[in-house]
Amino acid sequence: MSEPAPIRLAVVGLGLIGGSLARALREAGVVATISGYDRDPAQVQAALALGVIDRAGVDAADAVRDADVAVIAVPVLATASALAACKPGLSARTIVTDVGSTKQSVLAAVRSVFGEVPARFVAAHPIAGTEKSGVANALPGLFRNHRLILTPHATQDAEALATVERLWAATGARVVKMEAARHDAIFAATSHLPHLLAYSFVDMLDQLEGADADIFPNAGGGFRDFTRIASSSPRMWHDILRANAEPVAALLKKQIDELSRLHGMIERGDWEAMHAVFERARAARERHLTRIE
Ligand code: NAD
Repeated sequence: MSEPAPIRLAVVGLGLIGGSLARALREAGVVATISGYDRDPAQVQAALALGVIDRAGVDAADAVRDADVAVIAVPVLATASALAACKPGLSARTIVTDVGSTKQSVLAAVRSVFGEVPARFVAAHPIAGTEKSGVANALPGLFRNHRLILTPHATQDAEALATVERLWAATGARVVKMEAARHDAIFAATSHLPHLLAYSFVDMLDQLEGADADIFPNAGGGFRDFTRIASSSPRMWHDILRANAEPVAALLKKQIDELSRLHGMIERGDWEAMHAVFERARAARERHLTRIE
């Protein structure tokens, strides 16, 4: 079989993920041209200067006009407005895809703009990132050996799905498919809740007396590991938590109950019970560690 022709790619939202995908696909040699648009002119200028895109659209519709594949890479609650802005430039054959961290909310946003989820819309979420934002931090190798989740919908066009799958495979990602609701439940647990806990923990410490004087200055490696993700973009995480609020709230309730139990153990001096929690948690982490990317 002959190699598929290089595609004309458009990226709307030239941040860490949109920029990294553009760079990865260019490096893989699967794109002919890359156009882009971001509502922040500084990101557009940086994307041009760094060679991440070849052409900047005057607006989102202009950026996607000649594209075979248009990638929406904006914070999840901006998906509907970004898609609405792209709409006048999209043709019936354009494949539209996204990278958002929540999938049911993205599909609802797509439905709100098009009245349905178009067959050529492909919902995707790369399980890779850093706490940094912006195109200047984009890395071509960001997705290599990481999972990329596709959540096909009821009227999904098979060829559009296969094209998006092929592009992500070219970045070195391992493509897996699952239902959008299952995706949102899983990532509420493994990603959304931990971000909320990290932000909450750092915020609590910051309010302690002596936070600036000697608490933070004495923090060590454990603090750095545990709180790295509290340096992530607050706007992006506001959107994710809001878009996936229900499962996160249910898990947060469980976590609060668990913390209350630990608090009770400490107050009662039930150190054996506390030790048992630590043993179970370490064993679970060790058991799963090889599978954690
Ligand atoms: P980012 O802040 O680096 O980039 C987002 C860009 O979108 C910004 O440059 C912003 O100016 C632009 N933007 C916002 N609204 C817009 C609009 N209406 N039209 C055009 N541009 C607009 O964020 P990121 O980390 O690249 O995240 C992008 C998406 O990827 C989010 O949906 C996020 O949930 C998802 N994601 C992020 C990570 C991660 O670790 N950073 C991982 C997987 C998925």
